[in-house]
Amino acid sequence: MKQECPVCGKTEEWEQVTTRENFEVRGENIPVEFSILRCPQCQTEFDNLGSDIDPYALAYEEYRKRKGMVHPNQIKEFRKKYDLTQKELSNLLGVGEITLSRYENGALQDEAHDRLLKFIFEPSNLFFTIQEKENVISDEKKRALLPRLRYETDIESFLRFYTNQKPDIFSGNKMVDLEKVVDMIRFFTYSQSIFKTKLLKLMFYADFKFFKDFNQSITGLRYEHYTFGPVPYHFIELIGVALNIDANISIEERGAGDYTGEVIISANPPSSNLSQEEITTLREVQDHFASFTSREIVNYAHREKGFMQTKDRELISYEYAKELQI
Ligand SMILES: [Zn+2]
Repeated sequence: MKQECPVCGKTEEWEQVTTRENFEVRGENIPVEFSILRCPQCQTEFDNLGSDIDPYALAYEEYRKRKGMVHPNQIKEFRKKYDLTQKELSNLLGVGEITLSRYENGALQDEAHDRLLKFIFEPSNLFFTIQEKENVISDEKKRALLPRLRYETDIESFLRFYTNQKPDIFSGNKMVDLEKVVDMIRFFTYSQSIFKTKLLKLMFYADFKFFKDFNQSITGLRYEHYTFGPVPYHFIELIGVALNIDANISIEERGAGDYTGEVIISANPPSSNLSQEEITTLREVQDHFASFTSREIVNYAHREKGFMQTKDRELISYEYAKELQI
């Protein structure tokens, strides 16, 4: 489109060129590349008003990246995830609704508000804040939200616990590897449902057997002395994490004779992540216990030295793997 240049007065097709300019954001120089228009006659440069890219927005984006600040989309996604309105979130944060709306639309948040946003993004903190500011969220919404947040909080603390632990004799000299955990569950439950009680024992045997043979566990999981024998530490959250990682692993209630319990089934086979040695051990364990019911494997596991020598809820050292019955 030709237009008249207000500087030289000539009517020409203006050129679109990319320019690089420094923007100052809170005392920092941020170089930004964006397009402008230039009159080919006098070389005067004009803002490209037709462009939907706002150079200031780009500068803010770069500034946020440098400072590790929350991105506007993260706020919108967070609200969507928990079905919170702008009004509700702004009340939970103690920030004006208009301010929050401006942040969602790209305004640069101040540092204190950025810290508040990061705080509330943690499920445990959202859970706590909703209860503390009891009139912000309707009872109906709370009924849906609080159990979910409690569950996510458990998973959050589970992951924090596991990722903060250094490998030692209680983890089989290995850092926890959640991919391997999921693969192990897939291995034992692929297209054949298995009672959770039995699965947890199979996991114990697989990790301890592998340690016995190779001086390292497969998953890095810790096992504790529990009523039903050795089980992965915080197994409820662990199963929750596995279901979160792979939506094709499911859990359902089922009865078998006088026994009812939850069964786990995976629609996916294990990934190629497992080594040949690991698969061999998993197969050995699977074959050994193939005909065992949940009750039988519980009774069997109760005779493990690592179980007999530990008290309720105590972690079981992989040292006991030397004397494993298989
Ligand atoms: Zn001109």
